[in-house]
Amino acid sequence: MSEQTTQEDAHALVGAYVLDALDPGEREAFERHLAACPDCQAEVPGMRAAAARVAATAYVRPPAHLKSAVLAQVARTRQLPPVVTAVSAPVALAWWRRPLALAAAVVVLAAAALSAVLGVQLHESRQREAQIAAIIAHPEVSREVALRGGGSATLDVAGGRAVVRMRGAAAPPSGRVYELWVVPSAGSPRPAGLMDSGSGGALVKQVTGAKALAVTVEPAGGSERPTLPPVVVLTV
Ligand SMILES: [Zn+2]
Repeated sequence: MSEQTTQEDAHALVGAYVLDALDPGEREAFERHLAACPDCQAEVPGMRAAAARVAATAYVRPPAHLKSAVLAQVARTRQLPPVVTAVSAPVALAWWRRPLALAAAVVVLAAAALSAVLGVQLHESRQREAQIAAIIAHPEVSREVALRGGGSATLDVAGGRAVVRMRGAAAPPSGRVYELWVVPSAGSPRPAGLMDSGSGGALVKQVTGAKALAVTVEPAGGSERPTLPPVVVLTV
């Protein structure tokens, strides 16, 4: 029983060990355990890599909700119950340090997962920007149409994809958004995303077979079907 408890305590120190959060005595004891524990040996490289990824991607500004998400995760994570027999064990942590070591490990893992998500999002947004730039540089179709209410919208089409940009357009009324639609030759318009009147352009990935693209003003969050007449129709 005591032997079993000692092993579990030692395993639980992997996170703190990787974060260099053990004092010298604990560190020495854990390294003795590590030398004889295949489980911990297998775990250390992965946790080191996760910690390194967090450091390497630290320049990505984390979204505002990160702190609360991590704190919520820490709050939900169940602490190990205190084990009295472990007090005399060689690598037992003081009762108040065990939750800290666990919380530190949870933070590292949460941050690693978040940095992976941010990396994918960054990659996708760069890919989108590159596609938009390529279409604008060599359009097969390019037209500009005046917007009802001032400003204009530009359509560029290349390789079955399209970019729609709005220039000098008024911001939509409060609580409303611009929504882009693909208008097929037959059938109902398909939603193609929300438009920011001030952004670099909206990418529509599939316009083959479409008759036109249209923009309407919709309630915040967008609609499944246009609810108002379009402010502009761009023939493909
Ligand atoms: Zn172990």
